[in-house]
Amino acid sequence: MNTDRRKVVLIGTGMVGMSFAYALVNQGAICNELVLIDVNKVRAQGEAMDLNHGLAFAKSNMKIYAGEYHDCKDADIIVIAAGVAQKEGESRLDLLQRNTEVFRSIITPVIKSGFDGIFLVATNPVDIMTRVTYELSRFGASRVIGTGTSLDTARLRYLLGDYLTVDPRNIHAYVIGEHGDSEFVPFSQVMLATKPVMKIIEDDRNSYKMEDMKLIEEQVRTAAYKIIEAKKATYYGIGMALARIVKAILGDENSVLTVSAKLCGEYGARDVFIGVPTIIGRNGVKEIVELDLTEDEKERFKSSVNVLRENFEGLEL
Ligand code: NAD
Repeated sequence: MNTDRRKVVLIGTGMVGMSFAYALVNQGAICNELVLIDVNKVRAQGEAMDLNHGLAFAKSNMKIYAGEYHDCKDADIIVIAAGVAQKEGESRLDLLQRNTEVFRSIITPVIKSGFDGIFLVATNPVDIMTRVTYELSRFGASRVIGTGTSLDTARLRYLLGDYLTVDPRNIHAYVIGEHGDSEFVPFSQVMLATKPVMKIIEDDRNSYKMEDMKLIEEQVRTAAYKIIEAKKATYYGIGMALARIVKAILGDENSVLTVSAKLCGEYGARDVFIGVPTIIGRNGVKEIVELDLTEDEKERFKSSVNVLRENFEGLEL
């Protein structure tokens, strides 16, 4: 992988893709070359122009342009936020099948370009689309990552911080499982600094309650539905999550993020991509952190694995 030049190719310049690109430009110094690709070439060109016009106000300079698949050859990371929306009368599996075709039209030319970096997927259903990327690319699992429950985890830390009146950065908690309805919070693993939140509830039952925690978990799980109801789509949060993951990779941070990664026996499962705390560095997935879940949490995780497995098995690849 290239060390002095940090090149990212974004495929899919819709709301999610461009929120990511905008976050990159504003945060500065994460990468210094950004290529925009979309099936709608004119859109990609317009987005490149618009972003370039903001560079005079940005923290650092960047080369930004609308490109072609051959530009993927020497990229460090390919971010995929391309996809089609559900049509009326279409099932989730129909949508999945159509997005699989979209991914085939993307992964094939990317591989043909000679690309040898890391895939980062945001397209929904993200865990399954990440697995589709893995299957179509035949890359090693450490180099295929999905955004998983990274945004859900950020939402959780914000809400818990607000509830406990603590900076969310001092809340250590994860949402794990499918980025979807079967995701959950293993409360046995939620800490304020190094103090378990379950112990905080036990010590001060007048101020803090388990029911409130459950409500927060529900708010996290339904956040996307609420935002979509209000403004049709969600994009800023996921754009920032993508920028955070890209920064962790290009900066070789070895940061723990709840990305969608392939399980190889961790949590008692294999061959499934799912949101789990994962150490992310320059080569992608360094290690999956296996949490010490309670029996009940293990069962919930298993159900989530099954949802993803069943959905993937219905697909024609
Ligand atoms: P959008 O419709 O605004 O953008 C999609 C883009 O993909 C469009 O520009 C379209 O032209 C492009 N595209 C379609 N087919 C293509 C192809 N074959 N090749 C190249 N580009 C192609 O949608 P959006 O709001 O940006 O959402 C994108 C995806 O991100 C959706 O699947 C959405 O569900 C997902 N999403 C994920 C999360 C998460 O947490 N992972 C959060 C929000 C949205």
